[in-house]
Amino acid sequence: MSLQRHYATTLPSRFTAPLAPRTPTAPKLVALNEPLARMLGLDPDWLRGPEGIALLGGGLRPDGEASVAMAYSGHQFGHFNPTLGDGRAMLVGEATDAAGRLFDIHLKGSGPTPFSRRGDGRAALGPVLREYVVSEAMAALGIPTTRALAALTTGDVVLREIALPGAVIARVALSHIRVGTFEYAAATGEKENIRALADYAIDRLYPALRTEEAPYLGLLRAVMERQARLVAQWMLVGFVHGVMNTDNTSIAGETIDFGPCAFLDEYDPGKVFSSIDEYGRYAFGRQADITLWNLARLAEAILPLLDADPQVAVQKAQGVLEGFDAVFGRAHLSGWREKLGLTVPIEGDAALITRFLDAMHKGRADFTLACRRLGDAAGSGDFEPFLALFDGDEAIRAWVSDWQARLAREDVSPAVRHQAMQRVNPRVIPRNHRIEAMIDAAVQGDYAPFETMMQVLARPFDDGTDGLDAAPVDAERVRATYCGT
Ligand code: AMP
Ligand code: MG
Ligand code: MG
Repeated sequence: MSLQRHYATTLPSRFTAPLAPRTPTAPKLVALNEPLARMLGLDPDWLRGPEGIALLGGGLRPDGEASVAMAYSGHQFGHFNPTLGDGRAMLVGEATDAAGRLFDIHLKGSGPTPFSRRGDGRAALGPVLREYVVSEAMAALGIPTTRALAALTTGDVVLREIALPGAVIARVALSHIRVGTFEYAAATGEKENIRALADYAIDRLYPALRTEEAPYLGLLRAVMERQARLVAQWMLVGFVHGVMNTDNTSIAGETIDFGPCAFLDEYDPGKVFSSIDEYGRYAFGRQADITLWNLARLAEAILPLLDADPQVAVQKAQGVLEGFDAVFGRAHLSGWREKLGLTVPIEGDAALITRFLDAMHKGRADFTLACRRLGDAAGSGDFEPFLALFDGDEAIRAWVSDWQARLAREDVSPAVRHQAMQRVNPRVIPRNHRIEAMIDAAVQGDYAPFETMMQVLARPFDDGTDGLDAAPVDAERVRATYCGT
């Protein structure tokens, strides 16, 4: 078992704060992602043993080297906070996969750090299991994301509004460098710090840029493209991140920080779940705009690297950011074409997609079920289960006949179309009410709903009779989600 200390030893020391070793009171493994462990060359049996538990629960490396908290700044709800950083998390080190790619092993809920401010440095079991389930579900949906390696209860009590069982999640990422890490480097006022971080990010995440003439502009473009495609993928499955602060925007282009995240039930572009998002800054339909706003903060942070003349640097950055809409638009349009069973682009498709979204919104149709049942109807010709999802079906009936006319312009059999649609329209997503029920059970010591969710969500496109695809009845509906608990 060997871990690297790549980030901690490659970057200047101000990017990290070493942490004294610690062990939780009574660590107990409640979930271990064996395939992911093996992918990283970590032996699952070793991870289950005392050394493995000490590593996963407390960041105690077998080689005795220090784990570190990562420093970062960030814009939270539009306001700059220069001193954030891992307040309840730590980078244990990096492991490599068979191809030699580095992955961070990072703990969340592992206790106070120099960045904890008034926080207790801990996490409760509920949010840990939420992150475990949702991040693994995102991975199974084919969406770039941090992964869940393990979850442990700590034996400590975490005080929120009520006393809750404490827990730690060990997560894996291509890297935890965020837009906020670049803002931190810029806030030091030293160009050499910005350059060190940019060089590190290029070497680790975008090595092809090393030989480019303008590698830093290339870095901005590469992050812009990955983020544009990422947010398009969120929009295609109804994912609401909930807290898209710049410290939660990954330079690797992965979904990160599953705090108050939620999936849409009925389609509504204005939908907000997070209890603290009072003004709807991070509403479902605003996510692409916010991603671009966050990328502008990245551009600002690296301006000194783009050109010696600040005005020229701004122009260069703007030139890159102007490409965002096209990358996002292409990914969104082609994704929706697939969801609607369209295999060739034809003029007018964008309008057809917009009308489908409008009809779902007006008809208060469940997003996931509507897409899935449309795929079923494409195969069977029976539209009743689909239409039954819409309140008042006039607009959607008119849309269906236009959609059928559009399908008639392609030579694809209903069976093939059905199969193609069901490969991109998941049957199951981690429904908010199911997550809450799963958490309530786990807090009582019953992990059966967690195990079932993990099994079913690993194959989100398969048919099944587990009932996890059902929309909530009114009493089950989750109206608000909370972060930081
Ligand atoms: P987040 O909203 O999860 O992105 O967290 C924003 C900042 O608050 C980060 O710097 C976290 O490390 C910090 N933070 C969140 N919860 C806690 C906690 N319970 N104790 C200490 N720091 C925390
Ligand atoms: Mg965060
Ligand atoms: Mg969080």
